[in-house]
Amino acid sequence: MQEHADVVVIGGGIQGLCTAYYLLQHGKKVTVVERGDIAQGTTSCSDGDIFVCDSTPGYFTKLQIAALDEIVILTHKLDDFDWMSKGCVILAETEEQLETAKKQYQEKRLDGVKVRFMDQKDVHDDEPHTAPDIPGGLEFPDGGSLNPMLFAFALARAIRAVGGKISTFTNVTGIGKCKSGAINSVLTDNGTILCQQVVIAAGVWSPEIGKLAGIHIPITPMKGELLVLEPNVYITRRKTMDIGYSLLRHKAASDTCGITPEQSYGIGFLVEPTRENNALIGFCKYPANTTKSNPEVIRAMARRAIRFFPIIRNMNAIRSYAGIRPWTPDHEAIVSATSVPGLYINAGHAGDGIKLGPISGKLISQLMCGIQTEFDLSPLRLDRF
Ligand SMILES: Cc1cc2nc3c(=O)[nH]c(=O)nc-3n(C[C@H](O)[C@H](O)[C@H](O)COP(=O)(O)OP(=O)(O)OC[C@H]3O[C@@H](n4cnc5c(N)ncnc54)[C@H](O)[C@@H]3O)c2cc1C
Repeated sequence: MQEHADVVVIGGGIQGLCTAYYLLQHGKKVTVVERGDIAQGTTSCSDGDIFVCDSTPGYFTKLQIAALDEIVILTHKLDDFDWMSKGCVILAETEEQLETAKKQYQEKRLDGVKVRFMDQKDVHDDEPHTAPDIPGGLEFPDGGSLNPMLFAFALARAIRAVGGKISTFTNVTGIGKCKSGAINSVLTDNGTILCQQVVIAAGVWSPEIGKLAGIHIPITPMKGELLVLEPNVYITRRKTMDIGYSLLRHKAASDTCGITPEQSYGIGFLVEPTRENNALIGFCKYPANTTKSNPEVIRAMARRAIRFFPIIRNMNAIRSYAGIRPWTPDHEAIVSATSVPGLYINAGHAGDGIKLGPISGKLISQLMCGIQTEFDLSPLRLDRF
């Protein structure tokens, strides 16, 4: 079987779907090729936090502000994906961490992010279940959360509605080039697709696809796990995490190695209420290539949650799940052309892939269509490594 498309997008996770969604708006004929079902990779194993509270100052914070704006636009264009705009809170555990919070407060204000400094009384007035000794924190009133699976399927419906094709259960096995070295086809176990452009959006599996085209993509697996609590007890009305969480998210993997489970597994505190009133409990970050839950990690995350919200001690967990973040050496994404003419990458979004999906999809589609990109893409180029 042989078919034709202008662009083949490899990967039906959030990045592949967003890339296809925006390319279609530029009139491209697009086929998404996904080896399993839609969003079966890391996208289905994440929570859907869309906040600008833990980004690197400067360029990356501005990119995240644009990312949030783009998601709010999509709430008016796509089917419902459980968007809840409630803001979030970051708590300090100690007076020393409160000083870090003050620094983050200044940095975020300089980048134009709305943020409020909270002292001990503010924190407890805001959420009475917070542990009494918590000395303060930061409130970010903007941003919210969404359901990543609903988001992915809403995108898929929008893609198909305008003639985009999504070939599920189709494994990419090769990338064809013409004599000049430019891309001319994608080989799959269901046949060949002739095309002029290819986007690698295969998340943590992108290096394997890169090899098929003869390029090195420096993405490695960084595991995350979440615990889901029973839905009948009120903890807090919005996502709440500790300063450690925001610091850990952007530390190198080697920095998180230590002797206690908290250090070895990069454990921070996060609680996130969902629309069904289940609370998700996290956070962890450690190099591993498996989606099997680790009981030691689950226990450490639960201990950490109880430290900040003691009411959790009496609650039951109903399940846990794990996923693998696509991690780059500088933990920022790759949204880039490559040395192979016609070959592009939109991958490596680490712990921010849901949030950055629409803005990355928009930017890579502008790059591929020869349109001035809304952001300078040099900090996201592959050749920075
Ligand atoms: C526990 C956890 C919590 C998270 N929380 C958040 C959060 O709150 N907010 C946020 O913004 N981000 C979060 N993330 C990060 C986010 O989930 C990822 O960055 C994002 O899902 C990556 O999307 P992707 O499309 O790049 O990869 P994926 O979703 O993994 O998609 C890649 C797809 O490529 C397919 N594929 C691979 N090889 C082939 C092949 N040979 N042929 C065809 N298809 C192939 C795979 O099957 C897969 O479906 C979290 C991650 C984890 C693990």
